[in-house]
Amino acid sequence: MKTIDDFNFKNQKVLVRVDFNVPLDDRFHVTDDTRIRRALPTINKILNDGGSVILMSHLGRPKEREDKYSLRHIIPVLEKLLNRKIIFGSDIIGEDSRTKARNLKPGDVMLLENLRFHPGEKKGDVEFARQLAQLGDFYVNDAFGTAHRAHASTAVIARFFPGKKAAGYLLADEVKNIEKVLRENEKPFTAIIGGAKVSSKLGVLKNLLNLVDNLIIVGGMTFTFLKALGYETGNSLVEPDLIDEANRIIKQAREKGVNLVLPEDFVIADRFAPDARTRLLKGRNIPENWMGLDIGPDTLQKIKDLILQSKTIVWNGPAGVFEWDTFARGTEEIARYLAQATREGAYTLVGGGDSVAALKKAGLEDAVSYVSTGGGAMLEMLEGKELPGIKALKE
Ligand code: AMP
Repeated sequence: MKTIDDFNFKNQKVLVRVDFNVPLDDRFHVTDDTRIRRALPTINKILNDGGSVILMSHLGRPKEREDKYSLRHIIPVLEKLLNRKIIFGSDIIGEDSRTKARNLKPGDVMLLENLRFHPGEKKGDVEFARQLAQLGDFYVNDAFGTAHRAHASTAVIARFFPGKKAAGYLLADEVKNIEKVLRENEKPFTAIIGGAKVSSKLGVLKNLLNLVDNLIIVGGMTFTFLKALGYETGNSLVEPDLIDEANRIIKQAREKGVNLVLPEDFVIADRFAPDARTRLLKGRNIPENWMGLDIGPDTLQKIKDLILQSKTIVWNGPAGVFEWDTFARGTEEIARYLAQATREGAYTLVGGGDSVAALKKAGLEDAVSYVSTGGGAMLEMLEGKELPGIKALKE
């Protein structure tokens, strides 16, 4: 895969697919500009070469053109970070955008309106991709967060730029870091996988069994495994359809000699609420009418020991309902152990919106080796899949 370092963009109009899918508050102010900042090195390289940039992104999941999902809300942030005026293409591939793109001069930055306002984007429509492609001379993909989607701007468009397409710095960096844990991991290798559901992480768990020494399962998905092992789960989250799969994973772990670790104590609650009555449960049988919403101190000690013995650690998904302080301790402690392991020389990779949020909350974003900007995309790479957005750059 070529990266932008293989090219010079003097006098080129470069279409750059970025991931500006940032959170906005109810007054449409950007509350976290991380994703915008992570795209700046790529944008600046093109501008410094003497090229111009046409940025394209999606924002949220609009059904049609809806102002709350307009990318114009991010223009003030972008103008400040790039220290220049942004030209806005509100009709995406319409006459106005085409004229503005045609008139771009070196150093100019144009932003297209939310691509998902056009029905062709998510469908991967070839005609829409062709019309987008006509706006520029060169295609760069820097949107790792959507590289697992075969959408018009993330994959299909690449076919219109033979020999004139490349990965931006962020995308290339993401791929390098995730491939490092897939291919050049130093052992012992430990993965911590959490979050609500087994169903969304099944592929990852299966592939990780081929790679890791320790597979630690936390979060809501724990209880499907505990049910499979015959424990009582009370009102905890269980996916009955996945009990057989959980059993298969348990069996495969045994066959492959992987140490599969499940929590052994819990913070349990009498209802799913931030102010629920809670208590600490030693053991794995959740009493009737109670539910497990975080892991307990014995489990944390075990996780800490394993993390600090490991040379490679991947973490994706919270250990509890960390949005509520009462059930946030497990997730926050794991963030701290990863920071400590990193200081002691381990390679640590963290991804998934919730895990990254927990790192940020603890002020530890810079204390791990790499923070992935793409939850779903990272998971698909960990599943061993080739992402459509990356494949399209290679073809
Ligand atoms: P996911 O999107 O699958 O990564 O799941 C993230 C969500 O899992 C977060 O919103 C957590 O609140 C939730 N979660 C974590 N642990 C539990 C649990 N024990 N019971 C219910 N939900 C949980």
